[in-house]
Amino acid sequence: MITESAKKDIYEEWRSYQNELILLRPIVQSDAEALFQTYSDKKSWEFFNCDNFLFPCYLEKMEHMEETVSYYMKAYSIHEFIRWTIVHKKDGKIIGTIENFHRDVRNERGDHTNALTDTALLRIDLKSEYETEEVISSILDLVEDTAYEDFHCSFLATKAVDTALVRRKVLTEKGYVRAENIAPLQDYYVRTNITKEQVKNAVPCGGECTGCGHYAKDCEGCRKTDGKVAMWDSGCEIYRCAKEHNAYICGLCNEFPCNWLRSQVTRWDKEGINTLWKLALASRIHEAQKNLSV
Ligand code: SF4
Ligand code: SF4
Repeated sequence: MITESAKKDIYEEWRSYQNELILLRPIVQSDAEALFQTYSDKKSWEFFNCDNFLFPCYLEKMEHMEETVSYYMKAYSIHEFIRWTIVHKKDGKIIGTIENFHRDVRNERGDHTNALTDTALLRIDLKSEYETEEVISSILDLVEDTAYEDFHCSFLATKAVDTALVRRKVLTEKGYVRAENIAPLQDYYVRTNITKEQVKNAVPCGGECTGCGHYAKDCEGCRKTDGKVAMWDSGCEIYRCAKEHNAYICGLCNEFPCNWLRSQVTRWDKEGINTLWKLALASRIHEAQKNLSV
């Protein structure tokens, strides 16, 4: 992958990304005519993701395409979402757009929920003849290399309806799992950059022993000492409770997030409950990746 400029916040500097086959570049008004070929292509409509759209995402009039492109450019300027134009380099053609934005869903207490959150939500709109494994795979490679950092997130998600067989095949091969197994979203596929190692190294409360003043000096950490850590006289109650609930981390407990845990964890980390949500979601994704099927 070639990055065309040094990394700044993506809303300060709208970068292009490219590999051998695909160039993703900022959408411009003069793309409207070429993009109309994609958005008026009836065969491609069923694969567009129109969730939460106020207007149809397929278009039948050129003037609507021009308005849509202006709307996409405005959305960038107000940091709502980003649309890149997809250029097929070998054919020298504009073949569609991708959209990406940071989805962050929280409840009234400011906690994440089991809806997909801390996620870069990707829409891929392609002209039907380019709905191929090669093109989709090349686009996903570019997104995976850049979106976690650009959108400050730990998850990537995209929609692929049940007739989008090529998309589903490529997504599955790349380790995306069906979101409906782990979050309340139909037809979405999700993956994470939180590694199995990071989940394995997590402690029940979601914190990190390495940040504790006792660690290594007079304590080897709660996993090694079975919760009998230096900072808690009678051992750690969170550790004990997680063990009793057979939960590797509290985020994987059926009672998560219980009020008692919340009252403890937020004393030292305001985002502690959200860290546990993320670790638990990543753990479920890793588990689901073992049984991947299209
Ligand atoms: S609070 Fe408990 S679970 Fe968390 S790091 Fe300390 S000992 Fe481990
Ligand atoms: S979520 Fe609450 S009940 Fe479940 S293991 Fe953690 S502290 Fe115990």
